[in-house]
Amino acid sequence: MRIETYTCPDCGTVIAGNVLLVERAITCPGLDCDRVHEFADLPEDTQGHYEENRDAYQMD
Ligand SMILES: [Zn+2]
Repeated sequence: MRIETYTCPDCGTVIAGNVLLVERAITCPGLDCDRVHEFADLPEDTQGHYEENRDAYQMD
């Protein structure tokens, strides 16, 4: 399974794209960073990859 990552442009924290797929939006886990990351912030090709493989990434 391919895990795409996304780097916060404010603090450089790396966020796993599949978290955004499941949660849709998260507050940045970076220290002293309150930026909100949304699935829509991922590059379009990354979003497409996750949408196509959604079942493989479901966490429960
Ligand atoms: Zn951040």
